[in-house]
Amino acid sequence: MENKKGKLIVFSAPSGSGKTTIVHHLLEVKKEVLDFSVSATSRERRGTEIDGKDYHFLSPEEFKKHIEADDFVEWEEVYKDNFYGTLKSEVERIWSEGKHAIFDIDVIGGLKIKEKFPEKTLAVFVKAPSLEIMEKRLRGRDTESEEKIQVRLAKAERELSFAGKFDYILVNDNLSKAQKEAEDVIDQFIS
Ligand code: 5GP
Repeated sequence: MENKKGKLIVFSAPSGSGKTTIVHHLLEVKKEVLDFSVSATSRERRGTEIDGKDYHFLSPEEFKKHIEADDFVEWEEVYKDNFYGTLKSEVERIWSEGKHAIFDIDVIGGLKIKEKFPEKTLAVFVKAPSLEIMEKRLRGRDTESEEKIQVRLAKAERELSFAGKFDYILVNDNLSKAQKEAEDVIDQFIS
């Protein structure tokens, strides 16, 4: 984790803020300079997700072995029994390609990365224009049970209180405007 040039660009947000869409856009338009940090998780794979691309899907036992071996930059039990974390090897892989790592991770994980690498990290908090819109977006996904949606909503409200700790707050009111704004902030940071 000693590479001098590689940086860390963190996008964190409560579920339903649209951060994943923005991160995918950035990876598309900036593929020469950015690569996605594929997190490890012990949660079950959803419909179209691909192992090694969306996440490294691990069993809870495998995940715990990596914790014991100190293999993570940060890890967290985001939901009960569902572990998520960033492997050091993932960031090293991206830096060795001469690129910057871009993260789509939760608010607490994002702040942990910022704390560990204060100078190298740009931490962006993506915010939906309102709680109502966030809930609508979350429901629009239609992949989750009502119970899970309620858990995510409660977490989202708590996470909003951390927005002020980020380097930049990006309000996702109009998607193409938010995407352009994200591109500009990154350009400034990596230039
Ligand atoms: P999902 O299950 O919807 O893919 O993700 C649940 C939450 O875990 C999201 O907020 C996502 O950003 C977060 N997450 C994904 N990867 C990581 C990670 O490596 N570390 C942490 N702390 N959170 C993560």
